[in-house]
Amino acid sequence: MSHTSSYLGDEDSDHHEDSDFISGVKILDTEITEALDAQLSITEEDLIKNSIIKRSLSTSFKKSTSIGEVDDFRSIEKDDNNYKKLFDGNRSFVASKLQSDPEYFMRLSKSQSPKYVLIGCADSRVPPDQLTQTEPGEIFIHRNGKYNVSVLTLSVANLVVNTDLNCMSVIQYAVEVLKVKHVIVMGHYGCGGVKASMEKKYHGLIDNWLRNIKDVQRLHWQELQNITNESEKFRRLVELNVKEQALNVCKTAVVQKAWSKGENVHVHGWVYDLESGIIKDLEIEQTEWFNIKPIYEVEITHGKRK
Ligand SMILES: [Zn+2]
Repeated sequence: MSHTSSYLGDEDSDHHEDSDFISGVKILDTEITEALDAQLSITEEDLIKNSIIKRSLSTSFKKSTSIGEVDDFRSIEKDDNNYKKLFDGNRSFVASKLQSDPEYFMRLSKSQSPKYVLIGCADSRVPPDQLTQTEPGEIFIHRNGKYNVSVLTLSVANLVVNTDLNCMSVIQYAVEVLKVKHVIVMGHYGCGGVKASMEKKYHGLIDNWLRNIKDVQRLHWQELQNITNESEKFRRLVELNVKEQALNVCKTAVVQKAWSKGENVHVHGWVYDLESGIIKDLEIEQTEWFNIKPIYEVEITHGKRK
């Protein structure tokens, strides 16, 4: 893309920023118009794209007029278009489902009756339904955000924290309304949130959340101190964190209330191994809950808390 000639032909260097900006917009306008003409139709998406490019250029040219920056924005624009493959994937998914079952989506839209609720990490490598080959409608899922991904969510690493209204609401809805009988906490080896909790580095606000995993370390300090290999210690903390979060599920009044009514709600702790693809059941013993039950038990009469 040529950027040497000024749109206004202004020789004054003080005006180069403005003229380069106008020139950049003009070139893009021309290219977009040509592209749109070639398609013989202007879609809403094209108009939005045009407007986004202009906004990007306006911001960048106010800071600098280097040719490199214009190219940078063009590459960003190309990257931004990557999201379109998600729609392609969706259309392909719909087609394959309808091919084998024309009523698939109509039937699924009527209601859901999942048998499991899973609390997992938002890590993109740990999609619960794909890892378990389950279909839409089978697992009710709550995934906590990992602290260092681009999605700015509240939490970290499959935590069940009693002040997290989101997680608590998911458990309540799943157990009380959907009548789910299996509550699963699934962590994974190599979890960035757990790793960060083992360090002393300052991360800002997120440290307040990571402290929940530090508390897990404190509860199992002696065992962890006895492990000299750092990667083994990391793996063990992942497991211990899952166990503690599963116990946190047991501590909720929602689960205790279900138990008091004789409902068979099972609480599970699983760990996914990124390197092998295998999910391991930690087989959390009922005794672990009974050991702490005297502290956390909520007495419930006639379906209400005392
Ligand atoms: Zn994670």
